[in-house]
Amino acid sequence: MCIFCKIVKKEIPAKIIYEDEKTMAFLDINPRSKGHTLIIPKEHYETFEELPEDTALALIRTIKKVLEILKPLNFDGYNILNNNKPTAGQEVPHLHFHIIPRYNNEKEEV
Ligand code: 5GP
Ligand code: ZN
Repeated sequence: MCIFCKIVKKEIPAKIIYEDEKTMAFLDINPRSKGHTLIIPKEHYETFEELPEDTALALIRTIKKVLEILKPLNFDGYNILNNNKPTAGQEVPHLHFHIIPRYNNEKEEV
C-alpha cells in the first residue's frame, strides 16, 4: 500500500486539515512554505488522467475549502501544483495537488 493510502487509513500520522467522503488534505511533511498542503483523493489513482470526473470535481472543491482554511496565514499568492510521473517530479505515486502559499517575504515564513 502506498504512503498516502496509509495516511487515508490513519495507519501513519499526518496533520490532516480537512477530509470528506472522497478527499483528504494534510500538511506536507517537507513544506516549501508555511501552510504547504497536499490534497488527495482517498481512492488510489496514480496520475491525473486516471481520475474520474466526479472525483476531480470533489478535489477542486476541497482545494477551494483548503484555501479558505489557510486564509488566516495571510499569504500573498499561491501555487497549485500537480506532478505526474517521476520524469515530471512525482515522488509519491498517489495523485495529489500541492497548494503552496507564497509570501512577499518568504524567508521569514517557512
Ligand atoms: P511530489 O514530488 O510527488 O509531487 O510530492 C510529494 C510530496 O509529498 C513532497 O512534497 C513530500 O514532502 C510529501 N511527502 C512525502 N511523504 C510524506 C509523508 O509521509 N507525509 C506527508 N505529510 N508528506 C509527505
Ligand atoms: Zn495510494
